[in-house]
Amino acid sequence: MEQCLFCRIIAGEIPAEIVYRDENAVVFKDINPQAPVHLLVIPVRHIARLTDPDAADGNMLSQIFTVIQRMATDQGLEAGFRVVTNCGENAGQTVNHLHFHILGRRCMSWPPG
Ligand code: 5GP
Ligand code: ZN
Repeated sequence: MEQCLFCRIIAGEIPAEIVYRDENAVVFKDINPQAPVHLLVIPVRHIARLTDPDAADGNMLSQIFTVIQRMATDQGLEAGFRVVTNCGENAGQTVNHLHFHILGRRCMSWPPG
């Protein structure tokens, strides 16, 4: 997946403010933050979007959510935060490497746009 932007960030070919990484997940700051805290949590393995993981990815997905919990604690988001994954064109997915947005430290409205 040489052309994938987020794979290139993982490989260090494109700079990003990486705040966490382990064997399964990388977390970095969104380049165009929509909240005072706006992180992207991504699997190290290239997976295009949320409809692609299968049963064999269960552990990886579980670990991603553990990382999300850890980020919420590390970033002091006790007052609340939002996790978003845009899946596909209608949802507004612009990068085809699965990613979970963590948005926090401001109040948010619902429904989303
Ligand atoms: P999507 O629209 O696919 O749900 O989210 C993609 C996110 O990636 C957007 O919030 C966008 O700001 C972020 N993004 C796009 N290109 C880059 C980049 O080169 N570096 C970083 N850190 N974030 C990026
Ligand atoms: Zn990728």
